[in-house]
Amino acid sequence: MASRPLRLLMVGAHPADTFDQAGGTLAHHAQQGDEVTLVTLTTGARSHHWELIEKKRREQDALDVEELMEQAVGEKMGEVRAACSILGLQDVRALGFDDDDILLTREMVERIADVIRDVAPDVIITHHPYEIGGLKMHATTGQAVVYAFQQAAGTGRGRKRNHMTAKIFFMNPMGYMGHNTLAYASTAHITTVIDITDVIDKKVAAMDHISSQYYGGAYARKCHEVGDGRIGGLVGVAYGEAFQALFPTVGYTLPVSDADIRRTSEPAEEGLARRSEMIPGRMPLPEGMGFSSEFRFGPEDYDL
Ligand SMILES: [Zn+2]
Repeated sequence: MASRPLRLLMVGAHPADTFDQAGGTLAHHAQQGDEVTLVTLTTGARSHHWELIEKKRREQDALDVEELMEQAVGEKMGEVRAACSILGLQDVRALGFDDDDILLTREMVERIADVIRDVAPDVIITHHPYEIGGLKMHATTGQAVVYAFQQAAGTGRGRKRNHMTAKIFFMNPMGYMGHNTLAYASTAHITTVIDITDVIDKKVAAMDHISSQYYGGAYARKCHEVGDGRIGGLVGVAYGEAFQALFPTVGYTLPVSDADIRRTSEPAEEGLARRSEMIPGRMPLPEGMGFSSEFRFGPEDYDL
């Protein structure tokens, strides 16, 4: 652990990305007195506001979405600020790009580099630059951040400050493996897992706020039970968040924790009990929120 409080900068593509893939880890850092800044590159309103997308699907060219965009952006950022405050994350910033600005631009790189100069982070967290083969806003954001890290480290222009960031981590590096055929397994590795079991209920409660994407309630519980539960299971804990370090860590000795050793020497029953905490057991669904079997596919839906 570093000898002084760290400054962390999380750069997500869409508003909810700022916490839903690395929020538990960032909550731990905030708890120990580190400074955490979250930046959302895009508004998320054109691709992640499901109510608005549904409305467009129904009304098509009768609906001019520009008339509703300002309200939609406001709703999304309001949800995210409320969600982040549950995790103890207060500094949430928006760069305001549209989420259909999918291609990497110099302006994106420069805007992120300016944030790096301002925040002067020790650690940057962002998306894997080749998520879904690099053909996704997440990947564009990851690429923009790596370029911005390089740009901020140079002289810059005029009187602009410069800053060299010590560590970059890509979050959820294996998250899209198996989801599509373009993800490059050869560049995606889990190098670090953070045990977030103690804050998983806060993460789910935060997701309950993301109602414009219907993330709250049953979906929040299912999503983190399966996603964070699977990552935690890889290292013998109930819930984890996975990261890929861009650069190697330098140390005096090899990094081995007491938890690493205890996992290999404890009775199997204890290890399985630790892994088997379940979100539904810790936090029942809020009033009025449920799930249903009525939307299940039946055998006839699979006829080819
Ligand atoms: Zn996203």
